Amino acid sequence: MSSPAIDTVVVGGGLHGLSAALHLARAGRRVVVLERSWVGRHASGATAAGVRTLNRDPAEIPISLEAMDMWHNIASIVDGDCGFHAFGQINVAEYPSHLPALETRLAMVRAAGYRHEELIDRAELLRLVPAISPHCIAGLIARLDGAADPHRTLQAFRRSAEAAGVTIHEGLAVTAIERAGADWRVRTPARDFVAPTIVNAAGAWAGKIAAMLGDEIPLGHKASMMIVTERIAPLLKPVISVVGRPLSLKQSDQGTLVIGGGLQGSADIEAQKSVVNFSELAKGARAATDLFPSIGPLRIVRTWTGMEAKTEDHLPVVGASPNASGAYHAFGFSGHGFQLVPVVGAILADLIVRGRTDRVIEGLSAERLMQRQVAHA
Ligand SMILES: Cc1cc2nc3c(=O)[nH]c(=O)nc-3n(C[C@H](O)[C@H](O)[C@H](O)COP(=O)(O)OP(=O)(O)OC[C@H]3O[C@@H](n4cnc5c(N)ncnc54)[C@H](O)[C@@H]3O)c2cc1C
Repeated sequence: MSSPAIDTVVVGGGLHGLSAALHLARAGRRVVVLERSWVGRHASGATAAGVRTLNRDPAEIPISLEAMDMWHNIASIVDGDCGFHAFGQINVAEYPSHLPALETRLAMVRAAGYRHEELIDRAELLRLVPAISPHCIAGLIARLDGAADPHRTLQAFRRSAEAAGVTIHEGLAVTAIERAGADWRVRTPARDFVAPTIVNAAGAWAGKIAAMLGDEIPLGHKASMMIVTERIAPLLKPVISVVGRPLSLKQSDQGTLVIGGGLQGSADIEAQKSVVNFSELAKGARAATDLFPSIGPLRIVRTWTGMEAKTEDHLPVVGASPNASGAYHAFGFSGHGFQLVPVVGAILADLIVRGRTDRVIEGLSAERLMQRQVAHA
């Protein structure tokens, strides 16, 4: 059985799938999202939800800065504020030997014409984060950065997409994609969907969807781990990372400390499961307590992992398929795709509706990874 007329099938009900669907529906397209499990089941529900322009790869800076503008106006884009707060993100230097890394980064960013990162001294660091250990000497800050609430973000994007006319099917896995004349036939165990365009936003499984479309894109995966502590009185506002150590530390609205930073557990992509590696996780806890000694006695309430695709250069794939007309990719966010959610959906809508985008996505093509694969063969 085939579905009624659809313009675009979005594969994957994470935030990138929802954002693409929302922007397309607002541009008048009839959109269906197919999600194998439930909306937010994987990376978008497991994320630390840091909204960070700080230390972005130069290829991502233009779209990351636009995304930041969008986050500052997020309630005008989706139905809700997503729990977004702009308290800044700071990459802390503990020792003088860390300073050159921050200075080199700042020089590169400034030489490229950007002003969003700034070096701060110990006095300013202590003013912004009074609880930080006084052995810390400086920091690189992006003052407009911040963090959001992942679940409120998922709800807001979902509500807005559905209000714009998007149909979301949960519990429906895409098992095959075939040409049907000028259209694509997307097969699921329950029914087929036929549409001229497809968005591949399948997260850690996007390589499989790409292969169904004829794109063999080499991908790795990540299983990033998180810790959340018991609730405490207000301790800090900015999101803290530190030079040379795996740490991202923030305090949620509820008072819990949320600790991540890219430490890796292990993932079984086929089984759709990932598990925490506690000895690795201890490194993040150690970095957190070294910077904030007062949190040492806190109880850890929960730990978890989330899976997503990782590319060789840690940049995502955003753009049209090189081989399959009517197919578009948005995946491989390599642990930092939450911040890009509002803008990547707009880019996909540009590409699908207008056939082009004015946003800078040159460094994000699928071809760059496919060429490397050929070069390595
Ligand atoms: C622990 C952790 C912390 C993070 N912290 C940050 C952070 O602080 N800041 C930041 O910017 N980013 C962060 N990220 C990254 C960010 O969360 C992700 O880049 C983003 O959520 C990816 O969204 P997505 O929609 O591409 O993928 P996902 O949310 O994984 O969605 C993909 C969906 O596709 C579905 N799917 C797969 N195959 C099929 C199929 N065959 N048929 C139908 N559906 C299918 C999956 O079930 C899944 O729901 C973090 C990620 C993790 C895991």
